[in-house]
Amino acid sequence: MKDIGQYNHKAIESNHSKRWIEKALYSVENPSFQNRFSVVIPPPNVTGSLHMGHALNATLQDIVCRWQRMLGKDVVWVPGFDHAGIATQYVVDKRLQEEGLSRLELGREEFLKKVWEWVPISRNAIRQQLEKLGVSVDWKRERFTLDEGFSRAVRHAFRRLYEEGLIYRAEYMVSWCPKDLTALSDLEVEHEEEEGKLYYIRYPLEDGSGYITVATTRPETMLGDTAVAVHPQDERYKNLVGKKVRLPLVDWKRIAMDGSEVENLIPIIADERVKPEFGTGAVKITPAHDPLDFEIGKSHGLAFVQVMDQFANMNQNAGKFAGLDRYSARKRIVEELEELGLLEKVENHRHAVGKCYRCKTVLEPMVSTQWFLKVSDPRIKERATQVVKEGLIKFVPENWKKIYLQWMENLKDWCISRQIWWGHRIPVWYCEDCGHENVFTDEDFDRVYDKLIFNLIADRKIKEEFTPEEVASILHSPSFVHPELTVLDFYKKFAFHKYHSTEVDANSLRLFFTQDLNPMAILTEKKSRYRYDSKKKTYRFVLRCKKCGSENLRQETDVLDTWFSSALWPFGVFGWPEETQDLKGLYPTDLLVTGFDIIFFWVARMVMMGTYFMEDIPFRDVYIHALIRDEKGQKMSKTKGNVIDPLDIVEKYGADALRFTLAILTQQGRDIRLSEKRFEGYKHFANKLWNAGRFILMNLEPDLLTKLPYCAPPRVEDLWIITKLNRTIEKVNKALSEYEFSEAAKELYEFIWSEFCDWYIEFSKLRLYAKPEENVSEEERKAQEEAINREKITVQATLLNVFEKTLRLLHPFMPFITEELWLELPTAHRESISLADYPQHNPSEVYEEAEKKVERLKEIISAIRSLRSDLRIEPSRKIRLYYKAGESKGLVQEFMPHILSLARLESFQEVQTEPPNCVAGFSRDFEFYLPVEEGIKVQELLNSYSKRLSEIEKSLQGFQQKLSNENFLRRAPEEEINKAKEFLEELREEKQKVESLLSFLRRLV
Ligand SMILES: [Zn+2]
Ligand SMILES: [Zn+2]
Repeated sequence: MKDIGQYNHKAIESNHSKRWIEKALYSVENPSFQNRFSVVIPPPNVTGSLHMGHALNATLQDIVCRWQRMLGKDVVWVPGFDHAGIATQYVVDKRLQEEGLSRLELGREEFLKKVWEWVPISRNAIRQQLEKLGVSVDWKRERFTLDEGFSRAVRHAFRRLYEEGLIYRAEYMVSWCPKDLTALSDLEVEHEEEEGKLYYIRYPLEDGSGYITVATTRPETMLGDTAVAVHPQDERYKNLVGKKVRLPLVDWKRIAMDGSEVENLIPIIADERVKPEFGTGAVKITPAHDPLDFEIGKSHGLAFVQVMDQFANMNQNAGKFAGLDRYSARKRIVEELEELGLLEKVENHRHAVGKCYRCKTVLEPMVSTQWFLKVSDPRIKERATQVVKEGLIKFVPENWKKIYLQWMENLKDWCISRQIWWGHRIPVWYCEDCGHENVFTDEDFDRVYDKLIFNLIADRKIKEEFTPEEVASILHSPSFVHPELTVLDFYKKFAFHKYHSTEVDANSLRLFFTQDLNPMAILTEKKSRYRYDSKKKTYRFVLRCKKCGSENLRQETDVLDTWFSSALWPFGVFGWPEETQDLKGLYPTDLLVTGFDIIFFWVARMVMMGTYFMEDIPFRDVYIHALIRDEKGQKMSKTKGNVIDPLDIVEKYGADALRFTLAILTQQGRDIRLSEKRFEGYKHFANKLWNAGRFILMNLEPDLLTKLPYCAPPRVEDLWIITKLNRTIEKVNKALSEYEFSEAAKELYEFIWSEFCDWYIEFSKLRLYAKPEENVSEEERKAQEEAINREKITVQATLLNVFEKTLRLLHPFMPFITEELWLELPTAHRESISLADYPQHNPSEVYEEAEKKVERLKEIISAIRSLRSDLRIEPSRKIRLYYKAGESKGLVQEFMPHILSLARLESFQEVQTEPPNCVAGFSRDFEFYLPVEEGIKVQELLNSYSKRLSEIEKSLQGFQQKLSNENFLRRAPEEEINKAKEFLEELREEKQKVESLLSFLRRLV
């Protein structure tokens, strides 16, 4: 007998989350590759803290991982973080601005230092949050997309793709953010409908015979026009094609991107791609500032004139408008056109505007040189399509398969370069002498030291000029991701598996460099790899052009799109490109859980890169979860103020309540609507479970396990609860295997709350609190006591057995409370419930006869309880009751003590006919009669139920009217209509009940 006190989620959760990490419970050093379950976490961005979407994502993965672990698998769940290029740069930039600093003033090196100062703050905060949620990840395998090994993998991937002709550099029209100063990929552009204007501008014909009028939404770009285009079949303009027009306003020299001077007399051309129905049917062509014009400009060999700089301010080509921002320029240009009589009209015009997904600035289409990954190449596209088509990768829910395949069909090349600073710098060095593009990775160097030093320089850990001591000191400093390791250890463990024996200290390094510079060595090798500066006592690592040998190289300043590294995540985390044990054994992973918003950004690209580099799928199952919304169905956002912070919820209601709530609301293909009330509700559930545990522990005899051989045979209700548990076990396992989280959680909730707590524990009290009769002989008393004790052992053992299994069954959903309660049980045989087995369906524990009996018994007791409550008899009051029963008679007699206790009866007598002055109730063949003198206040009830009846009738009328209103049916959302129908049905049922009660009561007056 022990008392575990009140449920205190805070103490329990912080204790176990700490304990699990200290014991490294979820770290598997040498997993069995035949019997493993591997998962990589979608790495959270190091931009701040987690939101509810992350909490959902982590919870669902953790449920599956804990379940698989308990099924006996070696679960390796790899955690990590994403450096999140543009997003992180944006956050840090904003923080600097608050301090009055600017990124551009600081410069690249200093700014990156600031980012590295920020990253651990965010990373640690997120790590703590994940720990609070109870995620069972293997922290010893943690990775970061910008750690030493990952950066090396990124360079390796880039090199292979480049050498195989899948990465190319080209001039291209990109969407440019003038605020973030970078190109964005198509996916990063948000299209928003906006009210704008359509300007009709007259371009005078060269021969003075009139005008051609063009329509545009961005008049400022006219300064870069190099043609006017019409559709070849457009009768209105047929005779104008080939003529020239004078570009209005422009009387200065314009220089094209290729350096040539551009005429201000521009041709009228015909092109199929012009839409005759837009505006006047004639359009201005600005090849340098519009995607379609870019295409048309290319095919007609037009000049490309840029009129804006990277900030979207007008440049020299804009003549007198130079220096103005694009909107002031627009205003001035429109005014001047109007003065010249060249503005025909202005119309209101609704159109889609492309905005930056980060900063919401209106993007400017610009021509620039960018790096592209040719994902449309069959070598990438075909395999990535095939594996999904053939079902090697399975999407859950299935409809995402179609969406994925559609997207793959229309795949465009992926712009992978970004003009930002935070990220993997493209490993290309341009030769200033011969123009060759050199891609370097450490494969270019044979010796381990050279490889190490190249990586340190490429990762900006040391400068190009360095001393051996600096190298030694960096290599011996703590690694960023795993501070318990040095950078050198990290290299050995995660990146340089081949070079386990390498020991590096300042001495060995100095020796290495001196040998390298030895004149004899220089003679035997081609040239020294290092150059020594005797004044500064520094060495310089020398890169030479692979084509002409020149040392005059300049590294590309662009960095790679963040998703380029994320695409390598499922194999990069296991040490790729090295053939590590982990890579061989843990790839492909078994499951990816992610949100639908990054299917194209991330999921598809992981499939492309996984099938390309590993020649195998990155994961077998992809579970796509829904979006979290507020209770009204609106997206959560800071501006709307409807955000629920998962940490607040953990604080108030506990991580267990948070997790259970998210799980029970996770239905495939449906958005999750959250309100704080939901969490509160499932906190009650946790409480209920706790109280059940507390009750059981208080009633267990300390030496119960040794007494088990002396138990009485199980009673019908014991067999019933074992059957119910077994059925729940079957359903929960099935639901989990189909990723039906809500289904599994509902089964558990139902079983624990309604069957186990509300019924079985109540039944158990009959035996737990049984006492021998008074006034019996000593001998008889002894015999009774012995029998009672045997019964007690049985009921205690059943409570313990069922509760213990229930805890294991619930563990993946509510890991903390189940851990705490389970460890209190005398049967706990491991250091954690999470290492115990998951309960499995056992056909020999299904007792159908017992199940039927107890279900019927529940019906009978419920019928009596329900009439008591309708007649408003206080719950504590014990009453007399009469009954008449057909087939149920035997059952009623068998379970007389149960009925007496659970329906709170003083007596329960059988009668042949209905006694006078009674209110009757029934359940199938079982009828029962409640005498008026048992506390029925007839007149009071009559008044109140008559009142209720008229209320019901009134609202019934209301709903009937509403539902016959065509207008309502047409306009209201389906959900509202269904709700109204449900209410109507409920009211009808209630009406029936109240009427029959009233008729009974009237007979009694
Ligand atoms: Zn932006
Ligand atoms: Zn060269």
